[in-house]
Amino acid sequence: MNKLNITYHPDYDIPVSPKHRFVGTKFSDLFYYLKGQKFFSKCNVTNPQNAPKERLLRAHSSIYIDKIHENKLSDSELRKINLPWSQRLSDRSFLAIEGTYQAAKLSLEYGIACHVGGGTHHAHREYGFGFCVFNDLAYTALNLIEENYVKSVLILDADVHQGDGTIDICQKHPSIYTCSIHSESNFPFEKKQGWLDVSIPARSSDEYYLSQIIQTLKEIDNRISPDIVLYDGGVDIFKDDGLGNLNISREGIIQRDRIILENFRKKRVPVTTVIGGGYSVDKSELASRHAIIFEVALEMI
Ligand SMILES: [Zn+2]
Repeated sequence: MNKLNITYHPDYDIPVSPKHRFVGTKFSDLFYYLKGQKFFSKCNVTNPQNAPKERLLRAHSSIYIDKIHENKLSDSELRKINLPWSQRLSDRSFLAIEGTYQAAKLSLEYGIACHVGGGTHHAHREYGFGFCVFNDLAYTALNLIEENYVKSVLILDADVHQGDGTIDICQKHPSIYTCSIHSESNFPFEKKQGWLDVSIPARSSDEYYLSQIIQTLKEIDNRISPDIVLYDGGVDIFKDDGLGNLNISREGIIQRDRIILENFRKKRVPVTTVIGGGYSVDKSELASRHAIIFEVALEMI
C-alpha cells in the first residue's frame, strides 16, 4: 500500500495565551485530528531534527540566527514577530524549518509529502515578522538547490497573506520562482514584487477565486517546468477566518487544493505541502480545515 509521508514533531506547539490570535496548539490539534481519522493508517510519520546552522545560513543571517538561539531579540524585533518569547518558541523554530525540508526530500522520493507545520513566509533574512521566526519555504528551496537535489523550485503560496519574507530572501535567486496568490488588502500592507503575484479583491468568493487559481496555473505551466513545488495551502482564505478577508467556503478550499495538486501530479512534478495560516477561536474546526490538504494529498498517492 502506498503511504503518504508526513513530517511532524510533538514540540511544534507555541506557548501563547488562549486570547492570542495565533492558536499555539494548532500543530498538535491537527496531528491528533489526523491521527483520529481512518485514513491515518495510510500516513507514514517522520520527525525532523534541529536545522543545522550551515543550512540556516543559506536563508538567514548569522546574527539573526544567534539572536534566536541565545534569546537576544530586542523588544522591537519581538514586536515584529508578535509572539511571546519562550525557549520553546526558539527550539521549535529550529525544528519546524527542517520539517519542511525533510518533507521536500520525501516528496522528491515519493512524489508528494506533507508537513504538519510550515508556511512561515513572513520571516525575512535578518528578522522575523507576523508570527514567523525562520522562513521554511526559502530555507528549503535554497538548500535543495545548494545540495544539488534539484535545479529549480516553484514556491506556490496560496495563503491569504503575501509571503513577503519568502520573496525578499529568494528574489535574487535565478531558479527559485515565487508565486503568491493573496488578498490585495491584507497584511503585509507593503507588498513585495515576486516572480508572479496575483491579488484577489477582498470578499471574493469561490467561483472568482478558483478561476484565478486555474489561470495562474496555466501561466506557470506556460513559463516554467520546476523540479519541485513547495505549496503553502494556508486556510486563512476561509470566509470566517479570524485574519482573512476572502469569502471562500470549505468546499472552495478543497477544490483549490485538488486543482493545484492534480496539476503538478499529472506532470509528475514532486509537491511538498505546508499548512500555512489559519485562525479561529474554534480549535477543532481549525484543525479540520488544516486537515483538508492531507485528505486531498491522500487522493494523489
Ligand atoms: Zn496567512
